[in-house]
Amino acid sequence: MQIFSETHPSNVFSYCPKCGSGKLLFDGVKVLSCNDCGFNFYINPAPAVAVILVYPDGKIVLTRRKHDPMKGTYDLPGGFVEINERIEDAVVRETFEELHVKVTGMNYLGSFPNEYVYKGISYFTCDLAFVCPVPDGTELHPSDDVSEAIKIKPKDIDYRQISFLSIRNILQLYISRLGD
Ligand SMILES: [Zn+2]
Repeated sequence: MQIFSETHPSNVFSYCPKCGSGKLLFDGVKVLSCNDCGFNFYINPAPAVAVILVYPDGKIVLTRRKHDPMKGTYDLPGGFVEINERIEDAVVRETFEELHVKVTGMNYLGSFPNEYVYKGISYFTCDLAFVCPVPDGTELHPSDDVSEAIKIKPKDIDYRQISFLSIRNILQLYISRLGD
């Protein structure tokens, strides 16, 4: 049987969000069911995007997180996909919001599940990673939830300073495909 973290919704939510009953039962997989009104609350992952911006010299962009969770660590530009938004549009929107960079092309790298703890509750994401080339001289203007942006050679990345497991996995897959 799977072990769930203390911050998993089944360990945090005590009452039915529809009727307020305390008889909320977890099925051990992904559903909290109310024994009084029958409401089912599904705990499903949310799609999020992570963007590797690549300069012609091979350097990529890391952003420093301005807020918790993992405030001060390095991350990739990106964030949650919004309701009714296309994944590709989320890539463009998040990159512009965080760095004022307009993405013009993207290549899908892969998907990376993550558990993201915010204010004591886990949010499960499936991070979709994209590689986006940017032209030489593209300026980075950190804003939104980013305090700083750096350009770095992939081999110089210190993984101890990277925010989340999914982001480390994305960077490692990207680097493994560079060869050499
Ligand atoms: Zn209920």
